[in-house]
Amino acid sequence: MALINIIVALVGVGAVALNSHPDFPPLTASYFYESAEHGEISARFFGTTTILFNDGEDAILIDGFFSRPDKNKILFGRLSPDKARLKKIVECCIPSNLNSIFVAHAHHDHALDAGFIAKLTGATIYGSRSALIVANAVDNTELKSVLNAPLTNQEIIRNGSVYSSKNNKFKVIAIETPHSASLLSQDSIDPDFRFPAKITDFRPGENYSFLIEHESAGILFVTSANKLSDALKGLKADITILSIGGIGTETNEYTRVKLIEEYWNAAVKATGAKVVVPVHWDDFTRPLGETLVAFPYVIDRVDRTFATIQVLAKRDGVAIRFMPTNKVVKLAPQ
Ligand SMILES: [Zn+2]
Repeated sequence: MALINIIVALVGVGAVALNSHPDFPPLTASYFYESAEHGEISARFFGTTTILFNDGEDAILIDGFFSRPDKNKILFGRLSPDKARLKKIVECCIPSNLNSIFVAHAHHDHALDAGFIAKLTGATIYGSRSALIVANAVDNTELKSVLNAPLTNQEIIRNGSVYSSKNNKFKVIAIETPHSASLLSQDSIDPDFRFPAKITDFRPGENYSFLIEHESAGILFVTSANKLSDALKGLKADITILSIGGIGTETNEYTRVKLIEEYWNAAVKATGAKVVVPVHWDDFTRPLGETLVAFPYVIDRVDRTFATIQVLAKRDGVAIRFMPTNKVVKLAPQ
C-alpha cells in the first residue's frame, strides 16, 4: 500500500472513531421545560458550559462559546470567533439586559467568543488574566472588525471575590477550582496572543467555578471536572451545574469511580444541592443545533461518568435534570 493510502486509511479510521459517540443524554433523562416569570431565574444553555441566566432585570453569562469551530479547524487550522454567527446569536438569543460575563478559563471552549460578545453588548467581562487576554485579542486578519475595538469594561477575577450584576440581582462568587486532567498545557496564555490562533495557543490560566446567588436560588456552577479537595468547603447551594467532561477517561474502574465520587461529594453532597444539571458533555466541534451530541468514545466516556453519577444521586436523594439546548427555561431548585 502506498504511503498516501495508509494516511488516507488512518484518517478514515480516525474520522469514524470521532463520529462514534454514546447516545446521550439517555432517553430517560429528565429536562427543565417550564418557562420563567419575571423575577424567577431563567436559563439558556448553549452547549459546553455557556449558559445565560436572566431574571428579567439582570442577565449574566457564564463563558462565551458559540462559534464551535469544527474538527478540521481545531486539528489543522487556526481559530477565531465566528463574527457572523455571533452577531446572529446576539440578535436572537442575548437579551439587552446582559451586563456581566464570567469566564471560567482561557481554553477556546470557554473563552473564544466572550470578548466579542462583551464588545457587541457592552457587558462587563470578568476572567483570569489569561481569559482577559483572549477577550482583548485583536484579529490580525480583519483590522476593522468589531473584534478589534477595545473592551469597555473588564475586571480580573480574584479567588473568593464577590461580584454583583448591574442591578444587584445576581451575586457571583468566584472560586478557583482545578481544571480537568488534560493533555493540553495548563500554563497561562502568552500576552501576545492574537486571532486566528492555534488550539495549543489557548492555554487556560487559572480555572474558576462560580457560586451564583439569587433571591430564588443558590446555583453552584462547577466549570471543570476534577478532584476538588477543599476548594468548595463551606459553600451551600440549591442547584449544582456540574461539568462532567474529562472525568470519565480513566480506564481503571475503581480509580475512575472513586474520582467521580470525590468530585460529587464535594460539589453536590457537601453543598446540600438537591438538583444537579450535567453540562460540558457535548462534542463542541459540532455546531449548536437542535440536538447536541456527546463527546466521541475515543475522547471521553460521559455515559460511564453518568452511570456513576446516577448511583450517587440515588444515594443522596438528588434529582438530575438536563437543560434543553438554546431554549429559555425556568431554573428551579426542585
Ligand atoms: Zn479547559
